[in-house]
Amino acid sequence: MTAEDQKAFEDEIYAFVGREVCPPTPARDDVNNAMIRQWTEIIGDTNPAYTDAAWAAGSARGKTIAPPAMMYVWGQEGFKVTTGRPADAQADLVNLFNKHGYTGVLGTNVRQEYFREVSPGDNVVMTMTIDNISERKTTGRGPGYFFETLATFTNQHGEKIGTQRFKVLKFIPQEQPATAASEQALKVPTRIASVRGHDNGWWWNAVDDGKVLIQRCKDCQTLRHPPRPMCGHCQSMEWDSIESTLDGEVLSYTCVRYPAVPGYPKDPICAVIGLGEGTNLVANVVGCEYSDVFIGMKVKGKVERVDEKTILPQFYPL
Ligand SMILES: [Zn+2]
Repeated sequence: MTAEDQKAFEDEIYAFVGREVCPPTPARDDVNNAMIRQWTEIIGDTNPAYTDAAWAAGSARGKTIAPPAMMYVWGQEGFKVTTGRPADAQADLVNLFNKHGYTGVLGTNVRQEYFREVSPGDNVVMTMTIDNISERKTTGRGPGYFFETLATFTNQHGEKIGTQRFKVLKFIPQEQPATAASEQALKVPTRIASVRGHDNGWWWNAVDDGKVLIQRCKDCQTLRHPPRPMCGHCQSMEWDSIESTLDGEVLSYTCVRYPAVPGYPKDPICAVIGLGEGTNLVANVVGCEYSDVFIGMKVKGKVERVDEKTILPQFYPL
């Protein structure tokens, strides 16, 4: 791309800044107890302000509220996302990037700010614009541009509830010859690598050292898994960890037959293991046939090398 071509391309993309992606759109369903209950169960948030009407009646608010982080949940489009939806400014921008070779996409961060609470019966209205597009950057993934959408949420009275900024990198994917060559050198494909971030990297590093750790709140001693920054019981951010003995029991299981998962010599048995310490862990059951597994089966875990690149806890029947 010549300097002139790049200038012309940038003129086109920067023209998207400020454009509306979504006009003010009321959520199809009002804020409601059923969705709050399901969401808090999945997240493991037991704050009574969200789900305990009797408790909330005696609180300063006098009623339950929705978790602020659900702000973006209320306006979700559902299955329309997978079956096609009308083009909008964001889709047009993405297509423009794709046309010029910036086909890679990576969501890089989400930042929410909260200004006002909503309760069951309120309606959340979302508006979204393309807020900014960076200059061309050189990144580890390849050259690209960051663009950020800004979603603004109001209630049915037009009062601002909060905002969400979502940043995406559109980049020209780079050939990675070194990696490609080493992949070819492996006779057997390896399993998909764990994604290690700020909040869970320590857990995987311990697995590499042969240990399964369970995060423990330093204030109330509650154990939690998977790793996360805050205690769901007392909201403390202080934590340490204990090592699991890997004595467990199968709480639920399935066999993944299709599509084939790379790195497994045969269809893997995936189970939710209830550990003796009280937390649950998703892992493979090995050393037996699928037909031998049952709910309640006692198992013992071992942290083992499962292929050239991967160490994982696996569970064996007792
Ligand atoms: Zn705690």
